[in-house]
Amino acid sequence: MLYTKLVEVYEALNSTTKRLEKTEILADFLKLIGENEPHILPPVTLMSMGRIFPTWSQKELGIGSKLLMKAIASAVGVTPGEVEDQVRETGDIGLASEKLFRRKSQVTLFTRPLTILKVYKDLVKIADISGGRSQYKKIDILMGLLSSASSFEAKYITRTVIEELRVGVGEGTIKDAISQAFHIPKEVIERSHMLTNDLGLVAAVSREEGEEGLKKLSLKPGKPVKPMLAQLSPGIGETVKEMGWAICETKYDGIRVQIHRKGEDIEIYTRRLENISLALPEIVSYIRESLPAEDFIVEGEIIVTRDGKPISFQYILQRVRRKYDIERMVDQIPLTLYLFDTLYFGNNLIDTPFRRRREILESIVRIYPGKVEISRQVKVTPSDIEKAQKLFEDSINEGHEGIMIKDPEAPYMPGIRGKKMLKFKAEPETLDLAVVGGTYGKGKRAHFIGSYLLALQDDDNQLRTIAHVATGLDDKTLAELSQLVEPLITNQKGRTVRIEPRIVLEIAFSEIVKSPEYESGYSLRFPVVKGIRYDLSPEDIDTLERIDSMFKGSQKS
Ligand code: ATP
Repeated sequence: MLYTKLVEVYEALNSTTKRLEKTEILADFLKLIGENEPHILPPVTLMSMGRIFPTWSQKELGIGSKLLMKAIASAVGVTPGEVEDQVRETGDIGLASEKLFRRKSQVTLFTRPLTILKVYKDLVKIADISGGRSQYKKIDILMGLLSSASSFEAKYITRTVIEELRVGVGEGTIKDAISQAFHIPKEVIERSHMLTNDLGLVAAVSREEGEEGLKKLSLKPGKPVKPMLAQLSPGIGETVKEMGWAICETKYDGIRVQIHRKGEDIEIYTRRLENISLALPEIVSYIRESLPAEDFIVEGEIIVTRDGKPISFQYILQRVRRKYDIERMVDQIPLTLYLFDTLYFGNNLIDTPFRRRREILESIVRIYPGKVEISRQVKVTPSDIEKAQKLFEDSINEGHEGIMIKDPEAPYMPGIRGKKMLKFKAEPETLDLAVVGGTYGKGKRAHFIGSYLLALQDDDNQLRTIAHVATGLDDKTLAELSQLVEPLITNQKGRTVRIEPRIVLEIAFSEIVKSPEYESGYSLRFPVVKGIRYDLSPEDIDTLERIDSMFKGSQKS
């Protein structure tokens, strides 16, 4: 199938803002692919969202905006400066390349038209290149692609490369489209997605084996799943009453890890499903000693402790982001792993009630004091809430964040922030928001972005602005943030810039208010930056649904 067919679909998606129409367009296209070239259904599904790899994959294209502009310049025969000017003018590298390619006077003759598979395979090749001169080799392949591309094709190839397709399609629409194209109930698609995290696979199995095939998909050690997330508890007593009885645990403040053992391999994934095993060699060896030599998936929180006390969350990031000198860091920043769940042991456990998953955890973990522990826990009923209160106080006194309140009967729900696991913290709630723009300061601060524009995501993973934030950062963090942001600037008008959404900030605030000023319909009063969330990506930021419910909650009280 020709790539122009996919481009036509992108353009059609672009021409409507209505989700139902987008779903219809995609469903028709997936059906068409299924009937004609079923083997490309997985890549087409991913490419419809502007992705080449499923979210859990470690692979990335590794081409930043600068390099991409260079490739465009060479393919069109202009200077990189001219490309930069176009990008600044249009505010979008895709539109800029469309314009430049249209102006390209010399039509490339005798080039074979691009197929979807060719574009996909070349982009995979680009991701596979590493080592010396990799940037040149990557650019070479990209230029080859671009020089065979029409202006419309160039627009979408470049947008795919920087992972900003801008056709308003996220996982929600794709799931609806697969369900519509292959007549599969929405819940079955949801569940298969939850277990595999791979919509390409879900589409292919839907077409080939239908509902029965999808029901056979299961969790597999070696393939990380999205973690189950927690809502905020309005009060310990109220939550325990609602659950009937509850399992309360200390909430440790570090990073969430999902640990997989498959055969001899042990892999550690973050909540963004990044593989960080190489950075944490001691955790890999502790796990080898503490857990049986069988396939499993367990979950826990890794924290840094000094003299038995937890120390700042930021230290752990130094460990996780470390690429060299790892052995020295092992001594300098010692880690403790607190395990709290089992997702797989012998078989898939996610439908098993939490109380049983915890029993399994306790039966398989050999505690390794100070290195591998199991989260501290109490079982609480509405008549002995004091036990949970005491756990909360003890946890805070020991320097932890608060407690988790878990429904003992609940299954594990990947990627869901539901009412089966709640958190109760000493500190007021914060939001994790993506940086999408900014404004340079005036006078002495003209070289710094003084205020950042922040966005949340709607239920289709589209970003919607919610606030500007200008305070909260010390000079060091402000400088660090500026450094991170500079290469991500895609467009500048006067002092205002647009920023590729890559960076997530944790924001404290006094109140959520309705406001027509921002795309989300809300704004934040007195927002303050609490820190940079290196462990989160824009896919993990807070959702419109959550803000809706926080807003409604605040109206009640
Ligand atoms: P926060 O910023 O409040 O940590 P978050 O956005 O990182 O929240 P949430 O799902 O809201 O994530 O809160 C649950 C998090 O608490 C988990 O992701 C995990 O990292 C952490 N955690 C610490 N201790 C536990 C525990 N005993 N059980 C479950 N999660 C725990």
